[in-house]
Amino acid sequence: MLIYARFHGRGGHGVKTASRILGTSAHLEGFHVQDFPIYGAERRGAPVTAFTKISDDPLKLLDRGYIFNPNLVLVSDESLLSDPIANPLSGIQTGGTAFINTTKNIDHLQIKHDNINIVVGDVTGLSLRYVGRVVLSTGIGAIATKLTGMIRWNSLEEAVKEELQEIGIKGELLEKNILLAKTCFELVYPAPLPPPSQQKKYKIVELNWTHPPYNIPEIWNIGNTKIRKTGSWRVFKPLINLEKCTRCSLCVIYCPEGVIEMVDNSLVVDYDNCKGCLICFNECPVKAISYVREAEAV
Ligand code: SF4
Ligand code: SF4
Repeated sequence: MLIYARFHGRGGHGVKTASRILGTSAHLEGFHVQDFPIYGAERRGAPVTAFTKISDDPLKLLDRGYIFNPNLVLVSDESLLSDPIANPLSGIQTGGTAFINTTKNIDHLQIKHDNINIVVGDVTGLSLRYVGRVVLSTGIGAIATKLTGMIRWNSLEEAVKEELQEIGIKGELLEKNILLAKTCFELVYPAPLPPPSQQKKYKIVELNWTHPPYNIPEIWNIGNTKIRKTGSWRVFKPLINLEKCTRCSLCVIYCPEGVIEMVDNSLVVDYDNCKGCLICFNECPVKAISYVREAEAV
């Protein structure tokens, strides 16, 4: 038995914790486990990936590399489906399963899924209802655990406590997270997870030393250019009430993306690039900024 689970999310979604919740749950069931994340640039909202490998045979976990051929994929933000860099469904095993956090049903997702099973659910909505904020780590971790079909609720509950207490979550907030985990665990059914195919072996290429001015990398990749619209990263959309606004410009200064502009004594937000961090909402001294969930915004 071998499960290769790959988690895709954005910085701040708790993708690493979700992969740890799955790994710790499986460990508590007596399986052998590896889990680890990779981060890109340190930037809230940027795509993040984490991996969990589970087996009953330790010899099947000798490979310590990234997972290119998952049999289980968890996508914590539907907008990642159209992100050419994240490309969350790439390499997924034929007959494998992908869970997508979305308010849409499968037919409204613009994805080709002839050879894989797609499961959808609104973890963001459940998180808002049970925890009062967006905590995707617990919900996505719980869903991943149930989809494996090998892990009992008791092990998941222990894992949620262990992983969340480690990052300082306790008391009432922990109890709310456990309730969210239970709800998500009961939301889905065990999924087909055919064994991952063997990964191809990579050749090791030896590079000759060259002087730094000749070998410092240049960034050519599309994901790192200003043509990448970070507006698709938003879970919440900020709205400015110009009647309440005193034109103090604090939101203009604090916005980390520089997308609020004062034009003719009015504020203009570049929603193509506003990533929804809500720093502007937190910093506005007169509470002239509110927000709505992106899925409900006009
Ligand atoms: S939510 Fe506010 S602070 Fe954050 S990127 Fe958008 S406009 Fe800027
Ligand atoms: S921080 Fe608030 S009051 Fe100041 S300019 Fe921005 S919206 Fe207006």
